Amino acid sequence: MSDAAPVNASLTPQPGHLYVVATPIGNLADLTERARAILGAVDLVACEDTRTTGGLLTRLGLRRDLIAYHDHNETEVAEHLAAQLAAGKSVALVSDAGTPAISDPGFRLVRACRRRNLPIVPVPGACALAAVVSASGLPTNGFLFAGFLIAKTSARTAFLEKYRDFEYTLALYESCHRIDKFAEEIVATLGPDRIICIAREVTKLHETWYVGRAADVRDRLLKGSLKGEFVVLIAPADFVL
Ligand code: SAM
Repeated sequence: MSDAAPVNASLTPQPGHLYVVATPIGNLADLTERARAILGAVDLVACEDTRTTGGLLTRLGLRRDLIAYHDHNETEVAEHLAAQLAAGKSVALVSDAGTPAISDPGFRLVRACRRRNLPIVPVPGACALAAVVSASGLPTNGFLFAGFLIAKTSARTAFLEKYRDFEYTLALYESCHRIDKFAEEIVATLGPDRIICIAREVTKLHETWYVGRAADVRDRLLKGSLKGEFVVLIAPADFVL
């Protein structure tokens, strides 16, 4: 970063601004200084689960008014919050962990603000996707993030078939309930030699990385704990580690 680069140095929330604030994906020390300042001073914090975010704020020694904004009320609450912002309130949007709107609620509120030309300010920080892609050793010149695949086996196989010869890395989130089956599906559909990465519990105590041939990654994964959170990357077919 150049010494002369002008930055938005203000740590004080501005009236009528929506702040999209990333929170840690496991390690509390990953909360940024700016996130802490904004969370400690906005009029309202919109969060997925008031108990989770309430707990985070308590650990940070902060107290704020919270409003629940989740998959089941997103549409109504987005309109309500946009009206509050238009009336001059400052609002921070957070999810349970990581960056809002990345496989988490947020998109509808951000769109509602864009439609009204309300100012939106990202306060970047932890994101499981960026953490895993950046430290995987798989190609990063381009990647397709597909979030969570739907649970149906035929749809998952169809996805893998569709992107078999894709020129960039594929990135997916996967639940602990399906990670073993998904590793099997990758081996069965793309073959044992495809290079993949499965990262577990990143930034947490039991952080574990499995990187290499799909068949070897599957075998090592099945020998370890399948609890926790997982990101899966699949390299292009011609990639050699
Ligand atoms: N918005 C979040 C982000 O920025 O990463 C993602 C939320 S999504 C509901 C949760 C999924 O993200 C998990 O099922 C897992 O696939 C991935 N994830 C979140 N935290 C993780 C971690 N510490 N290690 C590995 N994967 C993680």
